[in-house]
Amino acid sequence: MSGELTRRSAAELAELIASGQVSAVDVAQAHLDRIAAVDGEVRAFLHVDAETTLAQARAVDERRAAGERLGPLAGVPIAHKDVFTTADMPTTAGSRILQGWRPPYDATITARLRAAGLVIIGKTNMDEFAMGSSTENSAYGPTRNPWDTSRIPGGSSGGSSAAVAAYEAPLATGTDTGGSIRQPAAVTGIVGVKPTYGGSSRYGLIAFASSLDTPGPFARNVLDAALLHEAFSGHDPMDSTSIDRPVPPVVEAARRGDVAGLRVGVVRELGGEGYQPGVLARFNDSVELLESLGAKVVEVSCPHFGYALPAYYLIAPSECSSNLARFDAMRYGLRVGDDGTRSAEEVMALTRAEGFGPEVKRRIMLGTYALSSGYYDAYYGKAQQVRTLITRDFDAAFEQVDVLVSPTTPTTAFPIGDRVDDPMAMYLADLATIPANLAGNAAISVPCGLSDDGLPVGLQIMAPTLADDRVYRVGAAVERALEDRWGGPLLAKAPELAEADR
Ligand code: GLN
Repeated sequence: MSGELTRRSAAELAELIASGQVSAVDVAQAHLDRIAAVDGEVRAFLHVDAETTLAQARAVDERRAAGERLGPLAGVPIAHKDVFTTADMPTTAGSRILQGWRPPYDATITARLRAAGLVIIGKTNMDEFAMGSSTENSAYGPTRNPWDTSRIPGGSSGGSSAAVAAYEAPLATGTDTGGSIRQPAAVTGIVGVKPTYGGSSRYGLIAFASSLDTPGPFARNVLDAALLHEAFSGHDPMDSTSIDRPVPPVVEAARRGDVAGLRVGVVRELGGEGYQPGVLARFNDSVELLESLGAKVVEVSCPHFGYALPAYYLIAPSECSSNLARFDAMRYGLRVGDDGTRSAEEVMALTRAEGFGPEVKRRIMLGTYALSSGYYDAYYGKAQQVRTLITRDFDAAFEQVDVLVSPTTPTTAFPIGDRVDDPMAMYLADLATIPANLAGNAAISVPCGLSDDGLPVGLQIMAPTLADDRVYRVGAAVERALEDRWGGPLLAKAPELAEADR
């Protein structure tokens, strides 16, 4: 039973628990066993604490036994990205500078998971401060892709994508600043969603680029992602950019899952040169599929999307250089060289030199430069203008179509080590995902088949801001049609991980 439980969807597990067929404790234990068996190889987690996990599960069972009405995901385990503060677990953001830090409070997302009765099973590995596309920038070593453990699971939320793809948890949280949910979902063959910016709270999320950072769900199917989206979304007075509007009806849309009469735009600028042929082939199949399901497909041009990557790599580092100033050796975590002979400034410099990894330092320097007087207008100011042009491209496109589609990533999962010495090559992994971040739109990645190399490919579906339900509706339609064709989910085609003898 325990092996079977880890193969179930979140919705199925919640149902089994609600009807009393299994307890939340049984479900938590099954996932802890799976983690013990495979995480030595996958390394999705930075922190797992069986006792805390089982205590949370027991509390859910007790609440139910006491007759309390619980939410639709009560008792379901979830892997939580280590960028969200958790009062009962360490929070490192993948950085040495925060090693051993215990936050004094829960992020809003964390608090809402708890209120919904979700069982936080551990904290997942990530690129340091969410900067990267492979988890190789984690100070704690890379996570591996369950499809092929010599390859990356995407990033920055690579621990979360790997945990879900390896059946260590049916659900996970992530954050998407430039693609960090959609890209890891695409390369591990699962579903990942970047909600509308402001639709999910940033309070207690360790900030990278505040005008872009967006928490969102990972799951093995579209409905599960929607259930999680609904569980943690909605207005938060603690986040100054939180949207004070009702959460779009994403669960209803995922259940509906049809495209009849919908207008779908294929973005001319996302695809073609720089994209792996096997990725483009699966993308083209998906477009044909959408047409066969009754969508009206047209090509749409978004002429400024080609400038999204350079604009992002000015805006995101600029915001990070300011956000990461708080790691000053006085308030959190690591402190180096404080032996009574050095000034605070010297201690700060030594601590930052030792506590931050090379990519984080690169971004802080790039951002500080872009914001410095004399360069501000030419770099940061210009990038903000480009950002406006990209938003206008989306606005114009959404006058003609209901959703836009593209491949999620230019390539499938690359080998660990391949791009670590080539930041530009690493940045290119987010070529197709960054426009939606700059404009704030909702976007999803759903599995759409295997490339020639046998690795999963993601289809990206983008909708206007606050039309998150549309990406779930179309994503669910694609998922249903493809699963009928394949006789099950794409993930079933992944090779089994060797389970350690215990
Ligand atoms: N890969 C992109 C970067 O390195 C996006 C990261 C993210 O979305 N957090 O900045």
